[in-house]
Amino acid sequence: MRTDKHKRLVIPGPVEVRPEILDAQAQWMIGHRSAAFAELFARLQDKLKQVFFTQYRVFISGSSGTGLWEGASRNCIRDDQKVLHLIGGAFSERWADVSRLNGKQVDVIEVEWGQAHTPDMVADALKKDHYDAVCAVHNETSTGVTNPIKDISAVVHEYDDTLFLVDTVSGIMGAEFRTDEWGVDMALTSSQKAFALPPGMALASVSDRVLERAKQVKNRGYYFDFVDWEASLQKNNTVSTPPVALMFALDKQLDDVLAETLESRWARHLQMRDMTHQWATTRDFGLYAQEGYRSPTVTTVANTPGIDVNEMSKFMAGKGWAMDKGYGKIKGTTFRIAHMGDMQPSELEEILSGLDEFVGV
Ligand SMILES: *Cc1c(COP(=O)(O)O)cnc(C)c1O
Repeated sequence: MRTDKHKRLVIPGPVEVRPEILDAQAQWMIGHRSAAFAELFARLQDKLKQVFFTQYRVFISGSSGTGLWEGASRNCIRDDQKVLHLIGGAFSERWADVSRLNGKQVDVIEVEWGQAHTPDMVADALKKDHYDAVCAVHNETSTGVTNPIKDISAVVHEYDDTLFLVDTVSGIMGAEFRTDEWGVDMALTSSQKAFALPPGMALASVSDRVLERAKQVKNRGYYFDFVDWEASLQKNNTVSTPPVALMFALDKQLDDVLAETLESRWARHLQMRDMTHQWATTRDFGLYAQEGYRSPTVTTVANTPGIDVNEMSKFMAGKGWAMDKGYGKIKGTTFRIAHMGDMQPSELEEILSGLDEFVGV
């Protein structure tokens, strides 16, 4: 069985999972057509709507977040219409690829990595063309930028026929996110980031507008057909076999999160972000993300002193921590410190002290 000795994950996904959550998965299995499952499903709906701040519904998907990108693109864009993707990092780039590979016509607004999108950029694009949907990434995990989703949403909603779809895979539950109040039609996330659960499950709040749109799309595919999902959800069920063990873990995690309160959780993440910024800037490192848009859940440190990130990672591994070494084209010139999920400020302090030993402060 599990031993206590392990490397604690300080990477921005998958993140460290608490032992209580690991244990919650290890219950006897139940059939997903049983009354016990319907009860679990209903209980989860109630709690998920609270953490997503939505009156609608939250779909549970037996996939990672990538699956729900495909679901969003397939269900929300009609065959003869276009989609606008806001790109500013590795994940937003990949979602645009997913739309293209599903046969959709894609336009993009691309900003330099490390920069945020502004409502003005989106307003300009929407004046020029009609889009069935605008797709944005709330928290670009590769760069550590948090986009101004609320303000962009206000612009999108000047157009009745345009849906606003948001990837908040590393945002929601760590960074403030208010789905209905902000006017987000679909907010999707994965279990293994700010939710601090094991990987393998994805979640998405979906408005009635999304379901109305989906009905107008001829070929929604099969696995991610939201119209079918909704019919099952009405019966507290899923179309195909759901990740039951992960749902047990989710049940426990949502109780703990609601007890902590979302507001305290957001505040804890902001505190850890500020600690990380303070550490980086006083050690002559830079902060890669644009000021004013720096993520509460992950900091991308600009490696201005030019430390050897491989050596740093080896050193930290020796102390029991798995560190990130930067993502994609900014690997090495940056590295990321995740302060995400159930991490506490006291633990972050230990991690930063460990890094101090390496940089020789
Ligand atoms: C990790 C991540 C994804 C991909 O999610 P998977 O669960 O790995 O499929 C998408 N978007 C963002 C912002 C991410 O951080």
